[in-house]
Amino acid sequence: MDLATVLLLHKSSFIVGALCFFYMRWRSREPGLELLAVGDCLLAFASTLAGMGEQGSLRYEIWTFGSFSVGVTGYALMAVGIIQLSGHRRRLSDWLLVTAALILSIVVGVTHWYLDNQMRAAVFNANASIFLLISSAAIMVDFLGDRLPGRIGLAASLMAAMIFSALVVLGLVFPEYGPIAPRNAFFMLIICHFSVALFVVVLVQERAEAKLSRLANTDALTGIPNRQNFLASLPHQLKQGDGFIMIDIDHFKSVNDRHGHEIGDAVLVGVAQTIAAAAGRKLLLGRLGGEEFALFLRDQTDDTLFATADVIRREISGLAFAVEAGTVTPTVSAGVALWSGECDATKLRDRADQALYRAKRGGRDRVEMYAAASTVTALN
Ligand code: GH3
Ligand code: MG
Ligand code: MG
Repeated sequence: MDLATVLLLHKSSFIVGALCFFYMRWRSREPGLELLAVGDCLLAFASTLAGMGEQGSLRYEIWTFGSFSVGVTGYALMAVGIIQLSGHRRRLSDWLLVTAALILSIVVGVTHWYLDNQMRAAVFNANASIFLLISSAAIMVDFLGDRLPGRIGLAASLMAAMIFSALVVLGLVFPEYGPIAPRNAFFMLIICHFSVALFVVVLVQERAEAKLSRLANTDALTGIPNRQNFLASLPHQLKQGDGFIMIDIDHFKSVNDRHGHEIGDAVLVGVAQTIAAAAGRKLLLGRLGGEEFALFLRDQTDDTLFATADVIRREISGLAFAVEAGTVTPTVSAGVALWSGECDATKLRDRADQALYRAKRGGRDRVEMYAAASTVTALN
């Protein structure tokens, strides 16, 4: 492949990348995409300057210095864009990389390194491989907190680009030892740039899907799983030790009526958080409706199930919400039912509901255990 074709492909990889990133930026609010887009525009421009220089239509010192300084700034913007996209935040300190690129351009300008074509290309690619390494590391480090599979492809593409940039340097500095010819390494680098653009799109898409799924499964007010999520998470087949706790806030309508809907919402959030803290990570919980919550537990006995519900009830009765005219101190009633071998989840939940109804009738702020009609007994 001749140099003109390679340079054209090189430029195309950045134009395609810039178009992808601009499009994704328009469709999503993910940070860093605009920097990636501008970085790729700068790299496409640097590649164009180099192409014009190779054809002799630009003065030597103009295209060599121009493509160097624009190119390193493009790589720095790309790295800042990747770091921001990966970490899902914008930080002022990320811009240190752009400052480093500008300082390098000044050093290369002052020392006239750009006049030596080999030297210019070696320093340029060495700098690119450092920025690519930093970008890849950011994607991998953030994988711990955001395990999206697209990160693996993106980190691998950046790492491969880093390796081929380093091989270009090796081939330029030690032509006799370089494992592959710089032109071939350069060609592989182009493929890596296409692949980086592809995996950025994949990552943004995966994030959007994860967000949608979170929204669809989470109750917007309290942040705990919603009814549909709770019901879908229940096991198909119940076993010995499975049980439900149904919880309902007492006289909640009067909280709304007396203090307003906003205070009502704050009470709901406080109660939900208290239940979630008591449930920990092991239990399934959900907001089933207005002021009604459900918990599903495994490996219980009548006593442990009842005790868990009563701990939650007592913790909630200790809550106090300051309002203009004093404090709101909510209480809840709870009903519990342990699986006894002959019913499905819907039926068992229904039994816990019946126990809850009895707790309400029995005076509220109490827990009742389901018992067959003939042996109705309250345990507290
Ligand atoms: P009980 O002790 O018998 O459970 O009485 P209650 O007043 O709690 O029960 P009721 O079912 O009569 O009232 C439930 C109230 O919950 C009615 C509704 O206005 C309120 N509610 C439901 N969802 C929300 C919500 O998202 N925010 C607020 N602030 N109120 C809600
Ligand atoms: Mg209620
Ligand atoms: Mg209710």
